[in-house]
Amino acid sequence: MTEPKLNLVGGQWVAGDATPNINPSDTSDIVGHYARATADQARDAIAAAKAAFPAWSRTTPLERHAILRRASDEILARKEELGRLLSREEGKTLAEGIGETVRAAQIFDYFAGECLRPEGELLPSVRPGVGVEITREAVGVVGIITPWNFPIAIPAWKIAPALCHGNTIVFKPADLVPGCAWALVDILHRAGLPDGVLNLVMGRGSVVGKAIVESPDVAALTFTGSQPTGAALAVQSAHLMRKAQMEMGGKNPFVVLADANLDVAADCVINGAFFSTGQRCTASSRIIVEEAIHDQFVAKLADQMSTLRVGHALSEDTQIGPVVDENQLAQNETYIEIGKSEGARLVGGGYRVERDTKGFFQMPALFADCTNDMRIAREEIFGPVASVIPVRDYDTALAVANDTEFGLSAGIATTSLKYATHFKRNAEAGMVMVNLPTAGVDFHVPFGGRKASSYGPREQGRYAAEFFTTVKTAYTAA
Ligand code: ADP
Repeated sequence: MTEPKLNLVGGQWVAGDATPNINPSDTSDIVGHYARATADQARDAIAAAKAAFPAWSRTTPLERHAILRRASDEILARKEELGRLLSREEGKTLAEGIGETVRAAQIFDYFAGECLRPEGELLPSVRPGVGVEITREAVGVVGIITPWNFPIAIPAWKIAPALCHGNTIVFKPADLVPGCAWALVDILHRAGLPDGVLNLVMGRGSVVGKAIVESPDVAALTFTGSQPTGAALAVQSAHLMRKAQMEMGGKNPFVVLADANLDVAADCVINGAFFSTGQRCTASSRIIVEEAIHDQFVAKLADQMSTLRVGHALSEDTQIGPVVDENQLAQNETYIEIGKSEGARLVGGGYRVERDTKGFFQMPALFADCTNDMRIAREEIFGPVASVIPVRDYDTALAVANDTEFGLSAGIATTSLKYATHFKRNAEAGMVMVNLPTAGVDFHVPFGGRKASSYGPREQGRYAAEFFTTVKTAYTAA
């Protein structure tokens, strides 16, 4: 067994039950052993973060800037190694793993800059002889709970703004991907964070996550993960009157109009639905196609899908890595059976494939002849499975796109300015894409959705300040 990587509590690396981190491309490959924290260690971590808060929240912008900058530089310098670690533990391709690592570095770079751009307003009062100041202050201890599908980017886009705005942190990564989380915390610790400012508690949601969520000392909770868990944590947070930010599922529509450039549209669908093995909350899962081009477009998709190379995440020619684990693969297969039993036509894919190593390989699946009331069109599958829904015209396409409990990302392929403009205005989603895949976003602009997809203020960019700070209005008599 390799030397286990430990949890960081109050600046000390503390031991716990060592658990193997398994490579989904090759289950004989153990990425490393990682200590699971206990609920008591999580409580110690919260106490350490609380103790560190007064001093950290009063550090100068330059002190915080320097630490985030150093972290960004190290992540970037180690992008190949960290990208490889990411692909090994999560299963996305090496190009995607390195790309995500670079994104994490860019996020720390961005928030290093934000440290130097603190905002405030100085206003005259409506009363004579009074001045008004509006400032933003840190919130306190932030609980950060992250999912397995973006093992470094999602921790980065929660940790960087939390630190930038002067908060202290208790961070629980997903149990399946402790490797990138540990590496990121190690980098930040060595970059000069004072003890207790950033605490790492790896382990199960039901133990470590629960201890974080139940603590009244956690002043704000930011979560990304499944819809039912996020909804439950939002309710628990409301009981404690704490700030909550929940990024949950999606059932993202991608509309293809008859006037679209079908090469562009097909690339958007293949990328949006299947890259990163479809394991993105912004993945396109409902492909809404105008009848006039339906058959031609489905044939084109089937053709392109037949050339997709599914395999070991670290093999150079792999385009789609494995599913993350056996549970997720079994869930994908269950939905394939549900789709068939509902009367959808499986155009291709959906079956397991064997490669040189034992992993969770599945060919991307496309269903045609779907209706929007089928379960495969309503429930988030979180795998490489997409459903094509034929529609009469644009108005029906928009109505179907919006007929979902979710509202994260919505896309359209069209060459019509009129329809593109109308769709941008009327899609009930937090993010709208025109002639671009539903997945794939920038780091300097807001990320988030509507309806059951998101709860609380947006993440990323300047909008992150809304969650990671609290506003104070101060009046002074002259
Ligand atoms: P997924 O594993 O599909 O990404 P989950 O919602 O199950 O989605 O998990 C997202 C994160 O939330 C993980 O870090 C998980 O350990 C954590 N988690 C799961 N259940 C709870 C819970 N009841 N309380 C706190 N955290 C939880």
